[in-house]
Amino acid sequence: MDAAAIFSETDLKGTITYVNEQFCQVSGYSREELLGANHRILNSGHHPRSYFIEMWRTIAAGEVWKGQVCNRAKDGSLYWVDSTIVPMVDDEGKIYRYASIRFNITEKQHLLERLRAKVGRDELTGLPNRARLTEYFNQIIAEPYKGSSQMAICMLDLDDFKSVNDRYGHAVGDQLITEVAARLKMVTRAGDVVSRIGGDEFVLILNGVSQTSDLQRSLQRVLTTVGSPYVIEDKPIGITASIGVTLYPSDNVSADTLVRHADQAMYQAKQRGGNRVQLFDVLHEQETRASHQTVARVQEALRNGELLLHYQPKVNLRNGHILGFEALLRWHHPELGMIPPGEFLPVVEQSDLIVDIGNWVLDEALSQLAIWQAQGHNWTMAVNIAARHFQRDDFAEVVRTKLQQHETLRPENLDLEILESVAIDNIQHANRNLDACRQMGVKLSLDDFGTGYSSLSYLKRLPAQTIKIDQTFVRGILTDSNDQALVEAIIRLAVAFHRDVIAEGVESWAQARTLMLLGCDLAQGYGIARPMSAEAVPSWAASFNIRNFSQQPRELPFSIA
Ligand code: C2E
Ligand code: MG
Ligand code: MG
Repeated sequence: MDAAAIFSETDLKGTITYVNEQFCQVSGYSREELLGANHRILNSGHHPRSYFIEMWRTIAAGEVWKGQVCNRAKDGSLYWVDSTIVPMVDDEGKIYRYASIRFNITEKQHLLERLRAKVGRDELTGLPNRARLTEYFNQIIAEPYKGSSQMAICMLDLDDFKSVNDRYGHAVGDQLITEVAARLKMVTRAGDVVSRIGGDEFVLILNGVSQTSDLQRSLQRVLTTVGSPYVIEDKPIGITASIGVTLYPSDNVSADTLVRHADQAMYQAKQRGGNRVQLFDVLHEQETRASHQTVARVQEALRNGELLLHYQPKVNLRNGHILGFEALLRWHHPELGMIPPGEFLPVVEQSDLIVDIGNWVLDEALSQLAIWQAQGHNWTMAVNIAARHFQRDDFAEVVRTKLQQHETLRPENLDLEILESVAIDNIQHANRNLDACRQMGVKLSLDDFGTGYSSLSYLKRLPAQTIKIDQTFVRGILTDSNDQALVEAIIRLAVAFHRDVIAEGVESWAQARTLMLLGCDLAQGYGIARPMSAEAVPSWAASFNIRNFSQQPRELPFSIA
């Protein structure tokens, strides 16, 4: 910046009445040319008229005006001044002249311009960069979106660009990027935005999208154009690209999230082999988000002590003996009341929270069992174990430790229920954990048996002692011959493999009787008792009598001990 001050004075109409030497030097005009001329002689055309109207209004009102002005010198070049204009007032308070003091700030202004350009543009390709893109997005999203068409935000990433760099060097890589940028500009429309946000990543914004089929076609054209052969430094180069795209305002999120969604879709396009377009799935994203919320809420429930266990007895139908109880998870929601596990466990089972919950269930169930044992009951406690929990390397060790914490309990008091399908899907892993548990003496049951399509060879390899016939088959046992055949087959299978068998979901004595006729004496179900709180168990057990259940039909085809 030139530090010398530039002075001038004008009359009320702007006619120049005085200039100092510095004024002449900077503007390139001689003093003679300036005096008597209107100040407009320096007008650069850079500022809107309103800028000067405002300035005149201020000084005519007797106030000092400050601002930065771009002037044009005699030779046509532009220069910037930092200007202060002071109205001079006579004894009567009337303005009779305006005095100006200015400093030349041209250099600083040029520097700023260069910086701004640098911030907004990608140096290699000259395309708008990430900062400029975000600015653009924010402008769009700040206003409510009108119209029926959408805006497509596309993330384009070259497939395996790294190998071009590795093979031909970065200079060639840079030239390829420049060429890709040029092709992208060419293949998009005037109102669209093409920007480069990093290495080989480009963001395209296509406006006025009304049909996804049109969008698909446009983007396919982009892929074809980018994917056509290149010749760089006489070397033929082939490359393809993957595009992920999301639509605004269908996907109504912040600017950053839009880019992230497009990026996610692009990643999927790559996973599916690249050289393709992948549309972001808004519905799926919303579901995922809802799942995250559920998991977070259940985590809170676990922390706040809103989870509890109910217990459902397993009995011998022939002699009325109570074998033990199955612990079933409940969520006592402060507003929604009691929520069954089917409403939150499927989501939670996809996350590691199920491991914390499973461990909590084990602790709680074993503590409860120890209490009942101290009261003289020799029951087993069945605990359901989720796949994710069960597949942990340390699962068997954790079970061992927990059992050791209750010295009165023996391992055979604990019965782990594992879904048949889970055990089969992970037979290698499952077997290691199952073997370790069995060696410890812990009992194992295959839950919901019959729904997991296990083959005989699998069953042979699974070391579970007990098979639990799924309740859907039990439900149809009286009315559906297929169900009855299935139940019978499962029972025979159990006998052949020397496994115990228990039926779940036994609701009526008629069902119980049929089961016994088919060879299954052990049962669990609403007909015997619904799951109940821990407090309710002792009195239920004291009053339980299988005769009460069996009283429903009169004739008894078997003896009750
Ligand atoms: P499951 O292990 O097969 O448990 C049996 C389910 O059937 C229980 O539902 C039980 O209340 C219900 N039930 C019992 N008898 C009858 C009957 O006669 N009729 C009918 N209609 N239903 C009967 P619940 O408690 O809602 O549990 C559902 C599933 O949630 C369980 O199926 C189990 O897979 C899972 N689950 C429950 N607690 C836990 C837990 O602590 N950890 C894990 N990982 N899963 C659990
Ligand atoms: Mg179960
Ligand atoms: Mg079951």
